[in-house]
Formats: sequence, structure tokens, C-alpha cells
Amino acid sequence: QLRVRFAPSPTGPFHIGGARSALFNWLLARKEGGKLILRIEDTDLERSTRESEENIKASLRWLGIEWDEGIDAGGEYGPYRQTERLDIYREYTDKLLTSGQAYHCYCSEAELEAERQEQMNKGENPHYAGRCRQLSQADRERFIAEGRKPTVRFRVPENRQIIFKDMVRDTVSFDSNGVGDFVIVKSDGIPVYNYAVVLDDALMKITHVIRAEEHLSNTPRQILLYQALGLELPKFGHISLILGKDRTKMSKRHGATSVEQYKNLGYLPEGIVNFLALLGWAPPGEEEIFSPTELIEQFSMDRVAKNPAVFDIDKLNHINAHYIKQASPELITELALPHLKAAGYVGEALSAEERAWLVKVVAELQGYISYAAQITEHIDVFFNDTIDFENEEAHEIMKDAAIPEVMAAFKNKLAALETVEPAAVQAILKGIVKELKLGGKKVYMPVRIAVTGKMHGPELINLIPLIGKDRTLARIDSLIA
Ligand code: GLU
Repeated sequence: QLRVRFAPSPTGPFHIGGARSALFNWLLARKEGGKLILRIEDTDLERSTRESEENIKASLRWLGIEWDEGIDAGGEYGPYRQTERLDIYREYTDKLLTSGQAYHCYCSEAELEAERQEQMNKGENPHYAGRCRQLSQADRERFIAEGRKPTVRFRVPENRQIIFKDMVRDTVSFDSNGVGDFVIVKSDGIPVYNYAVVLDDALMKITHVIRAEEHLSNTPRQILLYQALGLELPKFGHISLILGKDRTKMSKRHGATSVEQYKNLGYLPEGIVNFLALLGWAPPGEEEIFSPTELIEQFSMDRVAKNPAVFDIDKLNHINAHYIKQASPELITELALPHLKAAGYVGEALSAEERAWLVKVVAELQGYISYAAQITEHIDVFFNDTIDFENEEAHEIMKDAAIPEVMAAFKNKLAALETVEPAAVQAILKGIVKELKLGGKKVYMPVRIAVTGKMHGPELINLIPLIGKDRTLARIDSLIA
């Protein structure tokens, strides 16, 4: 059975790139009837926080990426937080030390730095030259007496070709001679990523390791560890980097980078998931809109591209707009509310009546926006009664000779209405077209401009009932006067 994992380090806001890795693993697990394991890699004690872990889990749940095993879900191979697995790592470290595949290194940070400098001055690639590889008992005792706390280094075998077939990048090969003996356990007893990840993936019976390309250079070290420990290798797949539109690595400069930021702007999880799936995976056809179920059906690792994926915000907006249109106005209102409050359109507490009105307004606008926060860019026409011509063209249209008659007719008929409903407004406008024998454009456009100042916007016959009779009449009077 296929077993994949997502193994984030809880060191900050949950990045969109992490979400993409999680998504690909999830899609593969669901497609193949496998299991997704969520493991927390918190061995960087200084930077890891529970807050970040919570944020990652909440973001995954929001996206609909559920895991089958791991943190919160439990499972046979726990614990699933690395700092709770230190005893397990220690057991394997002891084996490596006993067999001589690893050794204690007493070099201080300053000594290592001096070695690096010297190598770089000679034009060599910095690597550990092996000072502590063969320590005598006397040396060791002396270092311990000096109070040095050892790290554990892995003894990298010489002249070994490491060749593996990556699911995305095909055959990848490395030479072990380029890899100096590396630290696997720090002097405080905490294992480093490259070591813990190997033990965890092996012990959790992970069959496919799918992760970001930035880890490709770690893979040879990890493979050497699998070999030393006699553990079975998983398959590896390294998915490409995510670049900004300017083709540099995606960063804060390119806009929002965390899942939470998109959530707060009122993007929908379906939109984000759809967009992320296309970041590196090429669907078989032309279609770009996929529900999660369709993604699961269509996803396959052999359509995951080697070349970098470009994060195109316009594409995200285009895709998300599709889901915004389909969503209920109640939901979009909910997502837009914090932004409407911040912009001062609505107060902290809304009455049931205000809320019902707002939902109807949002229903008129959701076809024009890509994410809920954008409602604030379109909603002014419903709130602001002091209107002005948006441009000269609108002004010109209102100078037409027929305008006074059209406006007078419209005002009279509207004033006479009992209840202002779209059908009634429609009937009024049609009636004016007929009575005055004008083209539709000579009626609808001037009325729109008289009520909103603008030449385009939400459906006129829906707009007027939402603004209401009195406000509509007042607006016309103030603009025409
Ligand atoms: N904790 C690593 C990260 O967040 C995971 C890398 C891996 O998937 O092996 O980058």
C-alpha cells in the first residue's frame, strides 16, 4: 500500500509551497487508495513553535487536505512529532557508533570555521576533513576533560556512486566523495533533519517521498544513511521550485506567500487547491478548472513537470473567481465582512435586516470579484449617495436632448411604485422606451448614470430596489439639478 507523508517544520507561517507539497501527496494518496501521514519536524528547537504547528494543521484542514495518520490522527508508527522520538533516534545512533559508521566529533565551532576558511582560501569546496575520524582513547579523554560536548558524525563511505531514479527528475547521480562526514546528532543530543527524516520515513513505512526540489541535494546524504542502517529505500520525487512572475524564487516581495493570508483575503479553498495543483502538474487536457474529486481522478506523478512552476496571481484570481461565482452569497458576505468593517462600510454589529440587505448586495457583486475582499472595491455604489459622473463620457451622455423627459418619466413612475422590485423597475424602463419611442440605450444608460454616476456596474433592475425608492430619487435629483 502506498504511504506518503507531509513533514513540515513548524517554523513560521504555512507557506503556499508547503501547501503544494501537501496537496500533491494527498492527491497521490487518494488516487492510489494509500495513506497520508502528517509528521511534525520540530528538531530546530529555536525556531519551532506550537503556534506554527497549529497554523499548519488549520490551513491543511481549511484546504480540505485531511491526513490519515500522524499528529492528532494517531497511528501505529507514532509519536509523530520528532522531538517526541528522541529515544528512537538514540537507539539507531548507538548502533551506528558501535559499528563505526558514525563517530563522536569534538571539534568546536571555531575550529570548524577555521577549517572552512582555509579550504575556501585554497579554492576547495568546504567539507569536514575528518580530524576526529580516528581519535585515540587519549585524545578523546583529553577533549572530554576540556568539557567539549561531542556531535555525532556519519562516516561517509568513499568512492560511492549514489544513483537513484527520481519520479520527477529521472536519473540523478552523486559522488560520495563530494560529501564530507556530516553531523547527524548535534552536541545537545538533537538529531539533524537529514538523519531524523531517514529514520522516520523508514520506520513509518513511507513508500514515496514527495517533496520540494530544494531537498534534492539532501537526498544523497539520506540515501547513504539508509544504506548504512540497512533500511529499505523509498521512491523519491522532487517537485520543482515555485518562482514569482519575474522568475526569481517566490518570496514575500511577490505578494502573499502564506495560506492564511489568502484565506483572510477571502479566497476559497477550492480555488487555492485548484490553482496549487496546476503549479507543477500539467493536466492531460486544456481544462483548467478542477474540483478536488476531479483532481484526484486525473492526478499522476508522470505529469509533474521538472521545470520551475511560475506563481501567476492573475491565474489564481481567474480560477478563484470561478469558485466565488458559484459560492453562496451568505458565504461571500461572511468572508467580506471583516474587510467591509475595516473600510467603514458597516459597523461592528449588524441587525438582521442590514445583514439580509448586505447579502443581496453581495449577490449582485460576486460575479465581478476574484476574492471576497475585493467587494470593497465595488460596493461604494450601494452606500454612497453623493455621486458624480465617473468621466466626461458619462457627462456627455446626460446632455442629450431627451434626458429631461426620460428622467421625469422615470422619477414619476418610480415614485408611484408601492414596492420596488426588479420586475417593476424593468416594467418602468420598458414602458419609457415604448412611450418615448427611444432606443433602449437612451433610457437604460442615462438612468444608470443618474443613479450611480457610472456607465457600468451591477444589473440596473436589481441595483435600484437595493438602493430603494427614496435614495434613488434623491440621487437623480442631486445629479440632474
Ligand atoms: N521538514 C522539512 C521541510 O519542511 C521536510 C522535508 C522533507 O519532506 O523531507 O522542509
